[in-house]
Amino acid sequence: MSHLVEENLETVKQQMKLACQASGRKIEDVKLLLATKTVPFEKLQIAIQAGEVLFGENKAQELRDKFPLMQQYNQVEWHFIGHLQTNKVKDVVKYVTLIHSVDRLKLGQALHHQLVKENRTMDILVQINTSYEESKFGASPESALALVEQLSQFETLNVKGLMTIGKLNATNEETRHCFRLLKQIQSQIMEEKFPRVEMDILSMGMSGDFKVAIEEGATIIRVGTSVFGQRYLPDGYYWNEHARQDD
Ligand SMILES: *Cc1c(COP(=O)(O)O)cnc(C)c1O
Repeated sequence: MSHLVEENLETVKQQMKLACQASGRKIEDVKLLLATKTVPFEKLQIAIQAGEVLFGENKAQELRDKFPLMQQYNQVEWHFIGHLQTNKVKDVVKYVTLIHSVDRLKLGQALHHQLVKENRTMDILVQINTSYEESKFGASPESALALVEQLSQFETLNVKGLMTIGKLNATNEETRHCFRLLKQIQSQIMEEKFPRVEMDILSMGMSGDFKVAIEEGATIIRVGTSVFGQRYLPDGYYWNEHARQDD
């Protein structure tokens, strides 16, 4: 088992390197975030021992369970990558350095409210639904600019870039289209020079499509299955919960 995680990491790293070479990018400009939903602590430890430092969780509860176990490794950094309900904001800001999934004003407001109370700031990415799939969270590409402008008014939030989930079970060309769209939205937003808005981070690419994402400019790829193996829960459980009308 342990060998498997190590070997898988080697393979992913090698593929990242090749994708960087193929697209004339520097390997140090692309970070590997390990998506850890449903993954037991033992496997995370193997990844840490292999030198990995960046981890992403989808649910407040799983984050709260794993965080204390991982705290002994002080190089480890947590990001939040899942759908965030406003009533979970407090639990999540405690543990993470970047939230990838801010996709609506109401969530921005809830974050701001909590951060003001704690007298601190938070780095965020704005999640865009570039595939226009019903099942995905994320702001529509058409509303991205307006949303970023609204979020920029909260002085506790630093917008650092954009995140998307590419179209799944699609051809490379279809996913490439999603990633290019994210890149276009990034340029559009940069031109506006909103306060506290930087667009350095593009979080895109997962196990099935990270090579294409790197070619299209990803600076963080989020990989789970390729490193840890298949999950026992379908992704719909994380991406399209019954509670999606939450707010
Ligand atoms: C699960 C998940 C990933 C990783 O997906 P894999 O296909 O297992 O690599 C990336 N991003 C988000 C938002 C996820 O929920």
